[in-house]
Amino acid sequence: MLEVFPIPAFTDNYIWAMVNTEQRTCAIVDPGSAEPVQAFLAQHHYQLSSILITHHHHDHTGGVQALVASHNVPVYGPCNPAIPNVTRVLSENEQIHLDGLALNFSVLAVPGHTLDHIAYYGANMLFCGDTLFSAGCGRLFEGTAEQMFASLQKINALPDNTLIYCAHEYTEDNLRFALTVQPANKILQKRLNEVKRLRQQHKPSVPVCLADEKRYNLFLQCRSVAAFAELRKLKDQY
Ligand SMILES: [Zn+2]
Repeated sequence: MLEVFPIPAFTDNYIWAMVNTEQRTCAIVDPGSAEPVQAFLAQHHYQLSSILITHHHHDHTGGVQALVASHNVPVYGPCNPAIPNVTRVLSENEQIHLDGLALNFSVLAVPGHTLDHIAYYGANMLFCGDTLFSAGCGRLFEGTAEQMFASLQKINALPDNTLIYCAHEYTEDNLRFALTVQPANKILQKRLNEVKRLRQQHKPSVPVCLADEKRYNLFLQCRSVAAFAELRKLKDQY
């Protein structure tokens, strides 16, 4: 059986672990730090089988070298020499098969937060790094609003049952911002209360299925680049 676990890192990162519970093999997405991953593998007696990288930021890649040094596994990532130890460089529409997990993913190019950003879609899961967050989206560090809007439209077009595995626990803050834009929005108010409860219990607010995310996420609801750029500007100033 496939199970997916969040490994918390730094203040609010999630390093996602996909585990085949029979074979006890494990694929890791965006290991910004090796230590929490090593501890997770040791605690559950899982064997690391592959590493997937979404973009070059250090809080997503900082643990790769140490993990590869002790596990020698394939590393999938976008075309960017700044990312260490990549054994298979990926671009839009490529397919990968993860040995040991019997899982296939297709690659989506989702530039905006960074220019190299990719996402992995397969088995009703999307690992989207810092492109989409629950109730929010990534900051535009390298790309344009046009690029990010197009990337979000790609995600919008995935099946409604897609579970969105984003790389940060930003949901509560994102909902508070969204409520400054739409103070009377009952869906946002209800979701904020749910998320506050989850966080008080130290539970993650993600993954969220795309159908629900479309109800909470004002960035996914934007119908034009101009509307998206305006909302992103407001969030940057929030
Ligand atoms: Zn990032």
